[in-house]
This record gives sequence, structure tokens and C-alpha cells, in this order.
Amino acid sequence: MTVVVLGGAGYIGSHAVDQLVQKGYDVAVIDNLITGHRNAVNPKARFYQGDIRDRAFLDEVFGQEQDIEGIIHFAAFSVVPESMANPLKYFDNNTGGMITLLKAMKDHDIKRIVFSSTAATYGEPKQVPIKETDPQVPTNAYGESKLAMEKIMHWSDVAYGIKFVALRYFNVAGAKADGSIGEDHSPETHLVPIILQVAAGERDGLKIFGTDYPTKDGTNVRDYVHVVDLADAHILALEYLKAGHDSDAFNLGSSNGFSNREILAAAREVTGQPIPAEDAPRRAGDPSTLIAASDKARSILHWEPKYDDVKEIIKTAWNWKQSHPHGYGDRGQ
Ligand code: UDP
Repeated sequence: MTVVVLGGAGYIGSHAVDQLVQKGYDVAVIDNLITGHRNAVNPKARFYQGDIRDRAFLDEVFGQEQDIEGIIHFAAFSVVPESMANPLKYFDNNTGGMITLLKAMKDHDIKRIVFSSTAATYGEPKQVPIKETDPQVPTNAYGESKLAMEKIMHWSDVAYGIKFVALRYFNVAGAKADGSIGEDHSPETHLVPIILQVAAGERDGLKIFGTDYPTKDGTNVRDYVHVVDLADAHILALEYLKAGHDSDAFNLGSSNGFSNREILAAAREVTGQPIPAEDAPRRAGDPSTLIAASDKARSILHWEPKYDDVKEIIKTAWNWKQSHPHGYGDRGQ
């Protein structure tokens, strides 16, 4: 039995592939390498380079990997500001890609999928911590593209019996403890790796986007989860579906909120670097506060995140950064 991981060369996908391999699963990876890195893929996984929007390619892989017990789907674009500037890119790849994928799954009789959704599907919450049953009203095109994917999956379950788990991630950070894989985006847009680029002397300073939000210090509040804990949740979700449970959605967060200034302070402490920062205007599409209620994943999936200290999370990211100053080194950096 094989697990096919779409987007398995990306940041979160590569950590999930690594965990799956370590736990003894037979793994095949699909990635178009637009944002992923070939070197991020555990060598014990079979690798297919191609795009999930390419139906012929999917047919080829699903034909070759005959005994597929489930799909874990990470292959998506996920940069909020880019989605605001170029929403059609997001609807095409994320939402459109899901339609092509589900058609192929239906025809190849693949009945289980675990998929990356996002806290961005909730938009500006009326209350925190956010529960899975709270209204989903995205404030950015990225979140809308993922919400559409959740809805498409629901109707595909009703009609074709394809069971899904939507995992709504809050903010993911960190790297595998041994520093062998980690986060490498080009250009980088996420808070923790940008802060660490400043700490490493690659950037002059951090711009803090928005200091007039209705939060404890005026900056956005986010809920950080370690990438290895996130990866674990996907395997638990796959096993949950294999046990015959119904489709469902789960928040993945720590249930603790940290402001952007607090993350900066934590990174200064971890790195021992001054990390200069300046206040900057708000970034389009950013909700003020996103904090997860994550008890559902804990009680139903038996998810037990191992990292509960944001400094420990940043420490693993710093370890990766210091051992890989140019990331995977495959983008001419
Ligand atoms: N952020 C920032 N400066 C940066 C990058 C991000 O102030 O250079 C802020 C961003 O506005 C948001 C938080 O950091 O409030 C987390 O953003 P990120 O892009 O890491 O994740 P998102 O919350 O969009 O998924």
C-alpha cells in the first residue's frame, strides 16, 4: 500500500514525507518543483516531477502506483499578499488543481485524501480561539481558494464517496530537529524565516506590517505550530480515514497567540542577535488575530504536539538556517 504525497518537496510536505518514511510507509511524491526542492525529499520515497493540473500525468502516476491507500495533498500556493495581487493564479492552481485531482482519484478509485486547508478560511474571527464550526469568511484570495477546495471535497464525498480530512493550519514554523530539512522559499515572505534572515545578516531589518491592530501591542497575533507536529497530524488523519471514519475538518494550532513583536523578541533571545525592525503599513488581507481551538484534533485524532514553546520552535528554524545558510542551494542563491 502506497501513500502519494502531492507537494512532497515543499516545506511542510517534505517533513510529512520524512515522517511517513520513518514510520515505515511506502511513499510516492509528486511535485512540480515550482516552489519545492528535489533535495528536500527523503531518498526512500519515489519521486515524480509533474503538475497536479496535468491529468495525463496524474493518470500515469496513479496507474504506476497501483495500490494507493490515500493521498496527502500539500501542492498549493500559500502566500497571502501574492494571492491578493494575483487571485486567478491561486484559483487556478489550488482550486482548479483540486478538481483535476479529484477527477483522477474518482477514476482510479482512490478514496481517501488528507488536505492542507488554512486558518485563512475563517477570515477575521468574531471570537478566538476559533472553532471548526465558526463561520468561514476569508479576507484574502488564498483563504478563498482553500475554502472552495473544502467545499468541492464535501460534494465529491457526497457523490463519489471520496473521504477527506481538511487540516486547517494556523502558522507553521520550525524545522526537523537535526536541521537536515527546513523552510526555503524564494522570495521568502513568512515572518519567522524573514526574522532569521535578518539575524543572519542577509537582510537589513524586519518590517512589521501593521502596528494599529486591536491587539495587545497593535501587531497581528498568530498561533504557531511546529512543522514536525503538523506533519504528524497528517499521518493521524490518514489513519483516521483508514479506520473508516467520516470526512471532517480539524484546526491545527497551539491555542496560544503571539504578536509579531513577541515573535521578534523571542527570536532576538534565541539568536542573541539585535534584529533591527521598523514599523510598516498593514499588509493587504491580514486578519488581526488568528488563534486555534485545537482540542478537536487532540481528542479525535489523538494529536499530541511536542513543541509547546515558541522559542523552541524558532530554535529549530535557526538551527536549519545556520546549517543551511543558502537553503537547499538550488536557486542560485
Ligand atoms: N509579517 C511582517 N513582516 C514580514 C512578514 C510577515 O510583519 O516581513 C507579519 C504578517 O503581516 C502577519 C504575520 O507576520 O501578521 C505572519 O505572516 P506570515 O506571512 O508569516 O503568515 P500568514 O499569517 O500570512 O499565514
